[in-house]
Amino acid sequence: MNKSGEFDGCSFTILGAGRSGIAIAKFLNGRGFKVFLSDNNPEASLSYLNPGSLKEENISFETGGHSEKVFENDVIVKSPGINPVSPVILKARELGIPVFGEVEIAYRFCICPVIAITGTNGKTTTTMLTGQIFQDAGLDARICGNVGKAFAEELDTITETSVIILEISSYQLEDTLKFKPAISVFMNFTEDHIEWHGNVQNYFNAKFKIVTNQDGDDLFIYNADENKIREKAKTLRIPKAAFSFENKQTELDGLKYSTFYKNGILFVKDGNFTFELIPRNDIKLIGDHNTQNFLAAGLVAYSYGIPIESIRKSMANFGGVEHRIEHCGTLNGIDFYNDSKATNFDSMLMCLNSFGKVVLISGGQNSTARIDVIFDTVIKKVEALICIGEMKEVLAEKFMRYLPVEIAETLDDAVRISFSHATAGIPVLFSPGFKSFDMFNDYEHRGSEFKKSVKKLINEND
Ligand code: ADP
Repeated sequence: MNKSGEFDGCSFTILGAGRSGIAIAKFLNGRGFKVFLSDNNPEASLSYLNPGSLKEENISFETGGHSEKVFENDVIVKSPGINPVSPVILKARELGIPVFGEVEIAYRFCICPVIAITGTNGKTTTTMLTGQIFQDAGLDARICGNVGKAFAEELDTITETSVIILEISSYQLEDTLKFKPAISVFMNFTEDHIEWHGNVQNYFNAKFKIVTNQDGDDLFIYNADENKIREKAKTLRIPKAAFSFENKQTELDGLKYSTFYKNGILFVKDGNFTFELIPRNDIKLIGDHNTQNFLAAGLVAYSYGIPIESIRKSMANFGGVEHRIEHCGTLNGIDFYNDSKATNFDSMLMCLNSFGKVVLISGGQNSTARIDVIFDTVIKKVEALICIGEMKEVLAEKFMRYLPVEIAETLDDAVRISFSHATAGIPVLFSPGFKSFDMFNDYEHRGSEFKKSVKKLINEND
């Protein structure tokens, strides 16, 4: 039964046969609802779709287009990747068919508390770390949403004492209605996805939907260093907690809980009492941005009642998330880092600023992003630049007068060339700054290939 019982007897069309679409189709079907799954991409391109398993479960589906059958059910569940103004959604709205996202539907059936984490950057790292802290403390915490499993995949195995740790994007938040997390977290906000949301304010509003239904029983955690988020938070009449990397004490005054960073130490504040959480040097992840992620995760865990000692241990053990400044090998004292997740300049700059000097491998799919944005930092931080992908010539041209620049045709070559430029103490960093679709399926594929190339080089030189 869903909490409100309002879907009783309803039939569902699920639009989009990606991971979350298939998960919610299987879940609803398992609970006895009539479902129909529709995707306008050809079957061969749908990596999560297993026709045999759908047929076995008697789930009807179509691929390669949306037929009129889509509009024959009571509710439409839309994949976050389908644009809200695409013809199929506009028609559904015209016909008065309610459209929700997978998160909204899964939430209605969820019998345990939900902790939801959003923001422009740092969602995955914070979600994974939070989940790890909860699991280490003996809680049945399920990490899901935009990372790993879909929310709906957890529903059949949770109990009332479980806790869902949900990474949620602005796309997913847009398609919520009654979603009401016990704890919501807003990490940060920079301009991104504007082509989708239309303008910055729409994107900001979509993110802030995370608090829409929260009330006195819930908690909103936000980044007190971000003016726009902080000012909006001040207008909300719900319990609040905040973290501040910049140690903005005046902004934390009056909050029941907060975390902050001061003189190399992460602290947690509970009313008038301040406790040391962990020295930054005991954390394996480098960079100020990661310290912010630790402050956020620590605050979630502390406010949920997890003891400080347990939080500290989990934080010290946390090795980070794959493809995000991931240490992936050492050869002759030279460290290699895989930051394939850096698909834009924001991420790439964040990464470069976490290091002293580096040998940088960069480049990827052609884009209109202005290279001037990274110019000063690259000149300051990069010992040698190895350019790859569609953008290799453009990048090389931009920097060749200022530092040693080489062009590589493959990642194997890039790794080999970068090693010849590195010296002990100057690591090799793979932080592309561009999307990867010119050479790879996605950033995960790209990062895995980079790691293979590093391993190969190490083996050759062993
Ligand atoms: P998301 O899931 O929001 O994309 P990730 O945790 O996967 O975030 O991190 C992606 C990239 O964003 C990282 O490689 C890093 O460059 C940058 N990043 C991570 N945390 C933060 C943060 N708190 N603030 C700004 N940038 C960050």
